[in-house]
Amino acid sequence: MSTPFDLTGRRALVTGSSRGIGLAIARSLLEAGAHVVVHGRDTSTVGETADALARDFGADAVSTAVFDVTSEEAVIDGIRGIEAAGPLDILVNNAGLQHREPLLEVSLENWERVIRTDLTSAFLVGRTAARAMVARGSGAIVNICSVQTDLARPTIGAYTAAKGGLRNLTKAMTAEWAGSGVRVNGVAPGYIRTELTQALVDDPAFNSWVLGRTPVGRWGEPEDIGGAVVWLSSDASRFVSGQVVFVDGGMTAVV
Ligand code: NDP
Repeated sequence: MSTPFDLTGRRALVTGSSRGIGLAIARSLLEAGAHVVVHGRDTSTVGETADALARDFGADAVSTAVFDVTSEEAVIDGIRGIEAAGPLDILVNNAGLQHREPLLEVSLENWERVIRTDLTSAFLVGRTAARAMVARGSGAIVNICSVQTDLARPTIGAYTAAKGGLRNLTKAMTAEWAGSGVRVNGVAPGYIRTELTQALVDDPAFNSWVLGRTPVGRWGEPEDIGGAVVWLSSDASRFVSGQVVFVDGGMTAVV
């Protein structure tokens, strides 16, 4: 029996799905019935990830795209290639990086690298995909934000500025595209164990700060994020747009 969460027949691109949270989101979308385009910058890593998913979900359920989300030319070529194989119904802007350095010391180059990868990329990939979605009159975009969308901590100022901007970009996209059937929402993960956070997991002081600051009492796992993305990608959220859902074990709810 079909449910409003069913994504059968929909095609989804998850940027940065070669590993980490993006890979877990890809699995959740596949479990909900979607075809998923696995993406990253490295052809062999993307290929290996796609092969593993194809073994679990079937070769027809998975395809690949390799491009740098910070290059407009590469993004336009990449989305054109995906659309040539069929309409792109769902976009998850997940690719991102972190750079830890105090604001008094961070170079302009590093500041701009973070802003370009964590914020400008969502604008570039989002509007390129949305051109076709708006023309068709339907689509769902999910921007992967962070608890840093709402909260600041020392040494990640550029990341905090980028993820805060991503919340308002989510609203701006909604203002311009929701009337054309394209909904745009965000999911803000708490502290999740991935390659990006491995050094923090291994730092005893930081690890105990995370455990003490997270009401559910543990780090998040990549698999904790997919449920909210499936909901926001599906008809089950058909009247929701411009919102950010915090999937953070309660971190942003308490002081
Ligand atoms: P990972 O470092 O494990 O994975 C990042 C992914 O993004 C990789 O697939 C990487 O592919 C891709 N990527 C990075 N830069 C680019 C680029 N310029 N072009 C194309 N692909 C790129 O990170 P996480 O899984 O931990 O994080 C995923 C998202 O979730 C990020 O947006 C992050 O900010 C966010 N997030 C993470 C949290 C956490 O605690 N881990 C908490 C809150 C938010 P490649 O192989 O090409 O490097």
